[in-house]
Amino acid sequence: MYRNRTDEYQDIREAVRALCAEFPAEYHRRIDQERGYPEEFVEALTRAGWMAALIPEAYGGSGLGLMEASVIMEEINRAGGNSGACHGQMYNMNTLVRHGSEEQRQKYLPKIASGELRLQSMGVTEPTTGTDTTKIKTTAVKRGDRYVVNGQKVWISRVQHSDLMILLARTTPLSEVKKKSEGLSIFLVDIAQAMKTGMTVKPILNMVNHETNEIFFDELEIPEENLIGEEGMGFKYILTGLNAERTLIAAECIGDGYWFTDRVVDYVSGREVFGRPIGQNQGVQFPIAEAYIEIEAANLMREKACRLFDAGEPCGAEANMAKYLAAKASWEAANACLQFHGGYGFAAEYDVERKFRETRLYQVAPISTNLILSYVAEHVLGLPRSF
Ligand SMILES: Cc1cc2nc3c(=O)[nH]c(=O)nc-3n(C[C@H](O)[C@H](O)[C@H](O)COP(=O)(O)OP(=O)(O)OC[C@H]3O[C@@H](n4cnc5c(N)ncnc54)[C@H](O)[C@@H]3O)c2cc1C
Repeated sequence: MYRNRTDEYQDIREAVRALCAEFPAEYHRRIDQERGYPEEFVEALTRAGWMAALIPEAYGGSGLGLMEASVIMEEINRAGGNSGACHGQMYNMNTLVRHGSEEQRQKYLPKIASGELRLQSMGVTEPTTGTDTTKIKTTAVKRGDRYVVNGQKVWISRVQHSDLMILLARTTPLSEVKKKSEGLSIFLVDIAQAMKTGMTVKPILNMVNHETNEIFFDELEIPEENLIGEEGMGFKYILTGLNAERTLIAAECIGDGYWFTDRVVDYVSGREVFGRPIGQNQGVQFPIAEAYIEIEAANLMREKACRLFDAGEPCGAEANMAKYLAAKASWEAANACLQFHGGYGFAAEYDVERKFRETRLYQVAPISTNLILSYVAEHVLGLPRSF
């Protein structure tokens, strides 16, 4: 049951819901239990054109904005699926659309729009530097018409189900740049080619069924035409992708939040203990109502972040705040949902424990709540820099 109000994106919502209905809970549960990848689901989304939402029409996509893209991701999670299997293409897209050359756009975008290629992977995080991104140690050194990459990444998702990866590497040593955010560059990596010539991928088994990996680069050669934008400006470009990622994940958490509140409202309305529905107790009602209020509030911040992003205006604060609020709201909704299902919350067939694990991730990735608080304290409130 869909309880919240309708909005101007109702057509998209209805269409995505109809597609998602072809992949019921049993499908996502089985994929989770098998630690598999929802290939048929992602393929269906691609065939229906949803994965090309952000590609301009001139390149075969539908030319929609981040707002519409976020509605697609929200609806997938709201229908019981997990956008984590496919959101990479959405958040990577603007990096290529906004910062790629015309030649790169012509070469890749139509093939991504048709589904021939997938751009699902982004390689930023490293084991020894964590969130301190400007200190990454992976280097790309220019040799003739190629860049030679050495280093290591961790938690790099969907590599096995992507053709292309956006890779962040240092092209000028940290000691030689004025600002630590300078001297970083981004590249488009042809994954199949790279696996044969210097890139090794090691899957990480994890709590969520999230396809993610350690990656090792040993003298990997990338043609110079795969550099996106200007050398040394990669950190600025990757922020476009990171703001999109945070906003999309906020929408996914909102979808999760509504899924949890819908589920728990239905359950507590029907479950009778002590001769009445458990939902008649205010001790049960209040945590659910509180989570719902927080989801609705997070939704407003997500809309603001999307509007700013789509207008090409700065949206770092809003993207971070939307992610913070939505991840917190979905986690509170998840807790209430699990709690009021009693023992059944732990049974796989109810899907609550799966969604609970899935939504928990977003307190940590793609950016932890602490780092968002630190961003707001320093960049919005002007408090002294702490690191
Ligand atoms: C399932 C999964 C998928 C992922 N997919 C990708 C991907 O596709 N591409 C990619 O590049 N990365 C990916 N990541 C990485 C993710 O973005 C990082 O895990 C996340 O940014 C946190 O970095 P870290 O794990 O190195 O934690 P650290 O940076 O080591 O931080 C650990 C914890 O310490 C705290 N902390 C750290 N510094 C501070 C501080 N200054 N003040 C206060 N608290 C602090 C935070 O609470 C944080 O949660 C993924 C991670 C996971 C788990």
